[in-house]
Amino acid sequence: MRDALLLTPGPLTTSLTTKTAMLRDWGSWDADFNAMTARVCRRLVSLIDGEGEYTCVPLQGSGTFAVEAAIGTLVPREGKLLVLANGAYGHRMARLTAVMGRDVEVLDVGETSPVDPARVDAALRADKRITHVGVIHCETSTGILNPLSDVARVVNTHRRRLIVDAMSSFGALAISAREIDFDAVIASANKCLEGVPGMGFVLARQSSLMQAEGRAHSLSLDLHDQWCYLERTGQWRFTPPTHVVAALAQALDQFDAEGGQPARLARYQANCHALQEGLRAMGLQPFLPERWQAPIIVTVHAPAHPAWDFGDFYRRTKARGVVLYPGKLTTVETFRVGCIGAIDSSDIDAALDAMRRSLADMGIPA
Ligand SMILES: *Cc1c(COP(=O)(O)O)cnc(C)c1O
Repeated sequence: MRDALLLTPGPLTTSLTTKTAMLRDWGSWDADFNAMTARVCRRLVSLIDGEGEYTCVPLQGSGTFAVEAAIGTLVPREGKLLVLANGAYGHRMARLTAVMGRDVEVLDVGETSPVDPARVDAALRADKRITHVGVIHCETSTGILNPLSDVARVVNTHRRRLIVDAMSSFGALAISAREIDFDAVIASANKCLEGVPGMGFVLARQSSLMQAEGRAHSLSLDLHDQWCYLERTGQWRFTPPTHVVAALAQALDQFDAEGGQPARLARYQANCHALQEGLRAMGLQPFLPERWQAPIIVTVHAPAHPAWDFGDFYRRTKARGVVLYPGKLTTVETFRVGCIGAIDSSDIDAALDAMRRSLADMGIPA
């Protein structure tokens, strides 16, 4: 039987080839495994056109571990981070910065609009102590796309450093170091690259990483130490997630075979389009206006009907092979449907059918 379709922000549906790549055990000292790590890292750097200037530091753990490592290593202890927040992931970045004892300020624009570069400009003008700015490329809690290149331009004009959480966009939306000035881009294996969960990575400007020795608040999240060890030995510091690296190597080969970032974006856009059309045909309204919607995950207003209950809806669609995701908004009742993963618009059609039948079973007209 086929696994349920995961229409979530990750972990996602992966291809059989990617899953099969995990059937081998690797030793962490093994030269073939180390060559695989090196190949994956090179490929990830090339995805941002970062050859020569940027380096890839892979890290064990989920994406948040990599965000925490990047901030704890790149922002000096006496530095200050301005977080541009319009949802849960922005607030998480601020919280983890505060937890490690770094100075942090949040520029909160609410959860219904993109970050406003003019307000970033004003904030940087007003506070010279801000050394770094953190931004979420696609704020996965709503699916909103933030204007990364405009934000980068403002940050660069003020000669501050930019740290980008591109977790849910990396691989699908283009980010080029030739066009955007940033110190670090953070992502993980298990979103648009369609690998499995267990590792994140930071694509960091080498000159910035070099200055970061001894800054980290944590040993296991010290990106500088992780990088130096990898450079010196070719090995991961501490036990590597070997199966996850093997799956990512395979997933990257499929990414290339598909046609790279433009092809992946096109497939996700087609998924997103089919999803939005199908939802509207059911009388369900997407939460975001089209122009702010990233083709990653769609937030949908819950039906205004007394029989609506997300838990019930979830169980019914899951029984039909489709896993959805709850909303993450504080003010309105919503749920979310992902468009990413090893799925295409025929899977979206199947998911729409499962949603339609589930609503009908619940007595909600669709
Ligand atoms: C998925 C995600 C993360 C990381 O979440 P984990 O649960 O730690 O993998 C961070 N930021 C964004 C924008 C994300 O979508």
